[in-house]
Amino acid sequence: MINSALEARIENGSLLHAYIISGVDGPEKSELIMRMAESAVCSGSGEKPCMSCQNCRKAAKGIHPDIIKVERAADKKEILVDQIKEICSQAAVMPNDAARKVYIISEADRMNIRAQNTLLKVLEEPPSFVMFILSAENSGALLETIRSRCVEVRLHSEGETDEKVRTMADRLLKAAENGENLEICRIILEMEKLDKTAFGELMPELYTGAVRRMKNAASSGKSAQFYQKAARIFTKCGKYTEYNVSNGHICGMLAAELIELRAMERGA
Ligand SMILES: [Zn+2]
Repeated sequence: MINSALEARIENGSLLHAYIISGVDGPEKSELIMRMAESAVCSGSGEKPCMSCQNCRKAAKGIHPDIIKVERAADKKEILVDQIKEICSQAAVMPNDAARKVYIISEADRMNIRAQNTLLKVLEEPPSFVMFILSAENSGALLETIRSRCVEVRLHSEGETDEKVRTMADRLLKAAENGENLEICRIILEMEKLDKTAFGELMPELYTGAVRRMKNAASSGKSAQFYQKAARIFTKCGKYTEYNVSNGHICGMLAAELIELRAMERGA
């Protein structure tokens, strides 16, 4: 589930300098990491990432010079010390376009010990404009000294999302997008009947779907605002599932918010 403290930092652009995002790799994790990176480079004045400033646009296209991805070479079992040494020497250099510079280390748990010790040096005294995002399936494989210098966010995943949940999320997003209120209510009634596990998977699935659509809209020059706001509604409803609020209540709120959101967009 999406972490609400992190979500707030993403929105107001106050992300800290080092994060470990742990849990099974998948679209939810990649979307979150990209949103964090986009928030860090976004130069929009409101909520981040705004998806409309130059920095957000470049980031969405995967061509932002200040978002640097470090990956294990396909023919290697580990991330090697030389790859990390390069980061360390580059980290002190000012960003090109944005106010911050983001290093995303995929499979950070596959850095060998020498690589980890090298990274530690820059984590101990990071340049003020640098942010590190370490993606790891097993954060236990990282040195304690690294973990203590990062904020860890664990993504829970109960295996593959149920096909039924995925289809339902997709239908709801489409209905919301098209302002089909009757269809929204019909799907919501089906959602209420989901068991606890499936219902728990629903909000992250909706959130990921909204973020995906937001990006598609932004990269094709359309307004991403509707999905940006929808993503916030799903985050909020997701929080309620954590507090054990009943499915019925959450569903009611979800339906009301989605219908109102569309009505407001149309009114604007
Ligand atoms: Zn922006």
